[in-house]
Amino acid sequence: MSAPSVRDTTSDDDLQIRPLQLQDFIGQSELTAKLAVSLAAAQKRGEALDHVLLSGPPGLGKTTLAAIIANEMGSKLHTASAPAITRPRDLARLLTLLEKRDVLFIDEIHRLGAACEEILYPALEDGFIEVIVGEGVTAQSIRLNLQEFTLVGATTRSGMLSAPLKDRFGLELKLDFYGTSELARIIERTARLYELQIHPDAVQMLAERSRMTPRIANRLVRRVRDYATVEHITSIEAPWLDDCLQQLGVDTMGLNQLDRKILRLLIERYQGRPAGVSTLAALVDEEERTLIEDHEPFMLRLGLIEKSPRGRVATTRACRHLNIPVPAEIRQRETDSSVQQYESNLFTDRD
Ligand code: ADP
Repeated sequence: MSAPSVRDTTSDDDLQIRPLQLQDFIGQSELTAKLAVSLAAAQKRGEALDHVLLSGPPGLGKTTLAAIIANEMGSKLHTASAPAITRPRDLARLLTLLEKRDVLFIDEIHRLGAACEEILYPALEDGFIEVIVGEGVTAQSIRLNLQEFTLVGATTRSGMLSAPLKDRFGLELKLDFYGTSELARIIERTARLYELQIHPDAVQMLAERSRMTPRIANRLVRRVRDYATVEHITSIEAPWLDDCLQQLGVDTMGLNQLDRKILRLLIERYQGRPAGVSTLAALVDEEERTLIEDHEPFMLRLGLIEKSPRGRVATTRACRHLNIPVPAEIRQRETDSSVQQYESNLFTDRD
């Protein structure tokens, strides 16, 4: 049987710079405060932590938090990715391998198949699984008791998680995009670990161009470090960094080539009319999921695109950023929606 594969995060994330303790996890203060209380309570009672669901766009720290939870609880972390758990028996095997108070991290948990979900329900609620042994008329269901454990599920699409599964998590923690000052602290920490000298203005510039995402911030630090090594730069200053980021295709808002390609299509080809995500994905030759998970949330947050029931549309802000004249359709839609907003405000004021 093929064992469920362990997610390879090393290609993009340097494990050396991952915070291992909650106190080193920067930002997300509400979330970390909640988690700290639950961890302290579980430790005090000598119990496993309640099952935790972490949701939010990629690169915001879900995997890091799972490792922190295991570390803070002094337990072992087991990692799996839902798309790799194709058969219920793979999941059953993972669960039976867990020792007392171990942490099982399942990434992309919204992609777990229905049959695997069925296995999880009694495991999460009552600490056992039912396995079928034998075949045909001799098949029997056997109940296997599990050790007390914590499931940490991560999802970029919490809306796609089934209600019964969601209900079985005691702690639901939502990660949000990071502010510039938090990213600056993450960049300073990473630079310190890499022994890279970087001027405060340059830290600020990197933070502003990191798409509000720690993974991108760290990735940029690594790319910039490569350029600095090759060019014999000992201290990174803002003007040099600006040139370097331009060479990397990262613009002043942190958009990359693919983001700009998507926006140009929406503006120039669609002239501000809605475009379906599957059509857009085909036009830029990318997977639909990549667009939905890696590009849209950030551009929505920045107000560069909007989602409508008929598809995605670009905004005036996107046109201005790319220096493209605003198509009439976009201007009209935004005027209509601001009139609607004004009228609804008047109505609310009168209430
Ligand atoms: P996700 O699982 O949500 O895709 P990860 O946990 O893999 O994100 O985080 C991506 C990278 O960003 C990791 O290498 C980690 O070092 C860094 N990182 C994420 N969040 C933080 C944080 N709050 N403080 C410091 N570093 C962080």
